[in-house]
Amino acid sequence: MNTSPIAIVEELHRRQAEMYAGGPVEPVKELLDEGIVWHVPGRSPIAGDHRGPNAVLDYFSRRRAIANGTMRMTPKGALEDGDAVAMLVDGRAELGGEAVEWSTVGVYRIRAGRIAEVWLVPLDAQRFDELWSRQASPVDLRDHIRDVPDFPKPGIVFKDITPLLLDPTAFDRALRDLAGHARPLDVDLIVSAEARGFIFGGALARELGVGFVPARKPGKLPYETISARYGLEYGVDELQLHVDALAGGKRVLIHDDVLATGGTCKAKIELVEQLGGEVVGCAFVVELAFLGGRELLAPHDVHALVRFEEQ
Ligand code: AMP
Repeated sequence: MNTSPIAIVEELHRRQAEMYAGGPVEPVKELLDEGIVWHVPGRSPIAGDHRGPNAVLDYFSRRRAIANGTMRMTPKGALEDGDAVAMLVDGRAELGGEAVEWSTVGVYRIRAGRIAEVWLVPLDAQRFDELWSRQASPVDLRDHIRDVPDFPKPGIVFKDITPLLLDPTAFDRALRDLAGHARPLDVDLIVSAEARGFIFGGALARELGVGFVPARKPGKLPYETISARYGLEYGVDELQLHVDALAGGKRVLIHDDVLATGGTCKAKIELVEQLGGEVVGCAFVVELAFLGGRELLAPHDVHALVRFEEQ
C-alpha cells in the first residue's frame, strides 16, 4: 500500500465507507494507531477527546447512516511522516427518511503509516451537532406524548407534552427539529402564546439566536397592547401583544405546542400583521390533522413534528 499520509487517509475513507455500508470494522482498525486520539466536537454521546481505536469506531460502525462520504480536497505537495493531512469531507446520508448533507474538515495526523490523531472540525457546527444527535438518539416523539382522555372536558383527547419535556433527549430532539425547520426561514422573532407555547418558544428563540415575543391573555401584558379575538368551541377568547412587540424584526415564526383547530394561531397571525410583521411560518410540536387547522391557516406554511390523523 502507498504509505503517503494522503493515501492512508484516502484508504481510511474508502474502508470506512465500506464499513458504514455494513462491511467489516477490522480493515479500518488496521489503519489506526493503538494510541490514536480522536477529537470529536459537538454534543453527541462521543463528543470530547478519546484514546484508542475502538473509542469512536464502535460508535461509527453502528451508525451506518453516514455513508457516501466523499472527499473534495486533498492538500498538494509531499508530506512527511508525522504531518497532519486536512481534508474537506462531504457527507450525504438518509437520516429519518430525510436526505441531509454536511461538510467537515477532518485533520489526520499520521505516524509510522497509521493514523495517530484525528480532529473533526464541522464547517457548520450547529448543523453537524444536529445531525449527530439525530443519529445518536433515534427518538420517536410520539412515544413521549401522552393521551389524556376527557380533558379538559368530555370527548376531548388532550395531547400532553409534559412527558416529552421531562426527557432531556426527547426535548432536545424536538427543539432541534423545530430549529432545523426554522433556520432557513430567516426568522427575526418567535411569537408564542401562554402557557405551553412559552416552553418551546423561548428555547427555540435562544437556539436560533432571535428574539421572543409573548402573546398573552387580556390583562397580563403590562405595557400598551393590541388585541385579536378568536373563536373557541364555546364562546370567544382574546390574545394580546405589546404595541412595540416587533421592534426586534418583522419576519415572524409562530409557535405553539399543539395545532388543533388553528384558531389561536390565526389570532396570532392577525396580531403580527396588525403590527406590520410578516408571518414566515407556523411551527408546532403536534398537529391534530383531523381538526383542519392547516387548512384554516393556509396559505401560511405549517410545520409539525408529529401529526395525528385521527383522534
Ligand atoms: P386551536 O384549536 O388550534 O386554537 O388550539 C387551541 C389551544 O389549545 C392551542 O394552544 C392548543 O395547544 C391547545 N389544544 C387544543 N386542543 C388540544 C388537545 N387535544 N391537546 C392538547 N392541546 C390542545
